Amino acid sequence: MPDRIAEIWGGRTQFARGELWPTRVDQALADGITEDDVDRWVQSACVLCSNGCGCDIAVKDGRMVGIRGRADDRVNHGRLGPKGLFASWQGMDNADRLTVPLIRRGGELVESDWETAMELIASKSRTLLDERGPLSHGFYTSGQMFIEEYYALAVIGKAGIGTPHMDGNTRLCTATAAMALKQSFGADGQPGSYEDIDACDAIFLYGHNMAETQTVLWSRILDRVAGADRPAIVCVDPRATEVARLADVHLAVKPGTNLALMYGLIREQFENGWIDDAFVGEHTLGFDELRAMVDEWTPEAVADACGVAAADVRRAAEIFGTSQRVLSTVLQGFYQSSQATAASCQVNNLHLLRGLIGKPGCGILQMNGQPTAQNNRECGADGDLPGFRNWENTAHVEELAELWNVDPAVIPHWAPPTHALQLFRYAEQGSIEFLWISATNPAVSLPQLARVRDILAKSELFVVVQDLYLTETARLADVVLPAAGWGEKTGTFTNVDRTVHLSDKAVEPPGQARSDLDIFLDYSARMGFTDRDGKPLLDWSGPTDAYEAWQKCSAGRPCDYSAITYERLRSGSGIQWPCTDEHPNGTERLYTNGVFPSDPDYCETYGHELLTGATVGEQAYRALAPAGRAIFKVAPFTPTHEEPDGEYPLRYTTGRTAYHFHTRTKTSRAPALNRAAPAAWVELSTADAQQLGIAEGDIVRVISRRGEIVVPARVGDIRPGSVFAPFHYGYWDSDASGPGQRPSAANELTMTEWDAVSKQPSFKNSAVRLERVEAGSGPAPAPTTTASRPALSVHSSVPPTVGGADGMASGYTEPAGESRTRGGAS
Ligand code: SF4
Repeated sequence: MPDRIAEIWGGRTQFARGELWPTRVDQALADGITEDDVDRWVQSACVLCSNGCGCDIAVKDGRMVGIRGRADDRVNHGRLGPKGLFASWQGMDNADRLTVPLIRRGGELVESDWETAMELIASKSRTLLDERGPLSHGFYTSGQMFIEEYYALAVIGKAGIGTPHMDGNTRLCTATAAMALKQSFGADGQPGSYEDIDACDAIFLYGHNMAETQTVLWSRILDRVAGADRPAIVCVDPRATEVARLADVHLAVKPGTNLALMYGLIREQFENGWIDDAFVGEHTLGFDELRAMVDEWTPEAVADACGVAAADVRRAAEIFGTSQRVLSTVLQGFYQSSQATAASCQVNNLHLLRGLIGKPGCGILQMNGQPTAQNNRECGADGDLPGFRNWENTAHVEELAELWNVDPAVIPHWAPPTHALQLFRYAEQGSIEFLWISATNPAVSLPQLARVRDILAKSELFVVVQDLYLTETARLADVVLPAAGWGEKTGTFTNVDRTVHLSDKAVEPPGQARSDLDIFLDYSARMGFTDRDGKPLLDWSGPTDAYEAWQKCSAGRPCDYSAITYERLRSGSGIQWPCTDEHPNGTERLYTNGVFPSDPDYCETYGHELLTGATVGEQAYRALAPAGRAIFKVAPFTPTHEEPDGEYPLRYTTGRTAYHFHTRTKTSRAPALNRAAPAAWVELSTADAQQLGIAEGDIVRVISRRGEIVVPARVGDIRPGSVFAPFHYGYWDSDASGPGQRPSAANELTMTEWDAVSKQPSFKNSAVRLERVEAGSGPAPAPTTTASRPALSVHSSVPPTVGGADGMASGYTEPAGESRTRGGAS
């Protein structure tokens, strides 16, 4: 196998439009282990990004010793990326796994046992429910658990306790994806399929550094680009990512201006007559409002607002307007920026205008970041009602009440569910006194970390954390529960293009660790949650029962799992929902007939006003008479709330590197990945570096109104005026660093502000200043194989940290605003 740290995407297996993506099976085994040594291979899928690559886990002597891609899997055709190859199994088998419950005694976390820990949780919970009621309880969960676990948590929260204070870290990654889909089409659910990559003529990546976030999906694009009928690539990103380097047009927009750019692209469709009038007339609403909204956004106006060349806006719009089949993908560059939902809805609007939806090659992928984020949204552990039901629709609430045999009044539906940042605000103010955090690490991933640490450390707040390791968050908990993880439990999850996989238990969890499902079922039983007949609310004995209950809940809804059984998942390799008796093989694309789930009796939301986030309400929505039509949603463009100024002259954005996932809980424990990106850094442009007297590797202080970090500087390819920091790095593995010593976590600087509609934090729009602290001891510890590679002007002074130096050949040094269009797009 090639060095898959250096060769992130592996070798090319080119293919042309309409051909099948060739199979390439990737595999990694522990040192000294050969295939012959493996006792058995256990079916699973990778949980280190939202791609959901099918894989088999190698087991020897009761331990995970490797992984290989599944050749017949519809998602990856055998491939795995560096995180899947190394962190999936190496991230689990470590000496520092939590193996017994911990409880806080005299200010210290001390070892305990399950009986003591769970009774402590249950007695605190009972007391608060008796004295303060359900609003005293909050649950903050993950994008990395399984369907069975999310659904159990959702039933406990909604029918057992009756609290609206439930959310997941999906609020930090895919809340905008869900909301953009709901606003435009009436319900969550990705319209497209990965096979649209195989069939398209052009691919637009909006704020999506796919080359690093979903490396196997990017391999599929690289293979298409290497073959005949190369699709045109358009990239919207302020950094010269690998996507940008491959692109025919790179629109390096000023952070915070995505909406203006999108209006410019849409206006060009009108100006040039690239509209499918028949589709628009039959299947959409709001055309006139859209036309009026974009009128002012000439390419020159966009150039002025976004800091890109007008010619590039025209060229990108032309590619969209003249290609027969366009695939669009959207991720955090849009979701974590200003006016996130409004900007993401314009991607949907572009496709609707041209009728490019529901057909091969015409996908929209409002991407997820985390592997099981989709399931959190489906099951309702993020606060939504399970099965994409509408909390404002009484009939939907009654359906759930009947399913669970509880009083509908118990199910919170008097107001929108509480989003994560509000949930932490309630904990700060004291109305939430019981906060249960499962499989996530908000002490690194939420904005404005000093405040988050203060909240979690409050003596009045009882914090339960269940996780694999003693994370930065777990260290602040009152009770820490050791959880079983991937390969140590059975469950299902769903990737971005609605592909459901089963992950079977391969090995026993370490020590006394238990699955998240076991823990939730235990809590429910101890609390005595019952239905209207006095029977246990959750009488499930394990994942099979939980999954079958979920199938019933999903039946008849857009995410219908009713014909996806464990048996069928075991006998194949991935099935796309909806999957019913009528469509027993699943559904490759949604909306093939141009009918959308917007009917008022069926839709997941009555919609929001995109500027303020105000709900439209049932009456006004019914008056629209959507009747299965999609809706062109718009909002006027507004500048970011924290614009750079004299004191804080630079824009600060955060993001990801190919070698780490989330807060590195698993990836930092895979030695090769950790070596590739061992510590935090900040990137700035050569122009800004020269002006500030900063050289590659210098230690710099980055200061915002909320905090500071002190990290090495990478002089790289980012648009002047912007700086970038990877958000993965916290403090658990840092000897010399800590929030009180040398802070390095990117979210020390970000702000507690969110998108009005999706409530996703605006991680990418803070204002900062940089100061040189001292000379460094060498180049910044940033990978040289990815977007963080050094700028051309400095790269000769930076030895490759991973991989060869040849990857440094395509820098971008043009000043902002100059054309970056490459020839050859068709
Ligand atoms: S692309 Fe994502 S799902 Fe696939 S192997 Fe890599 S991390 Fe895992």
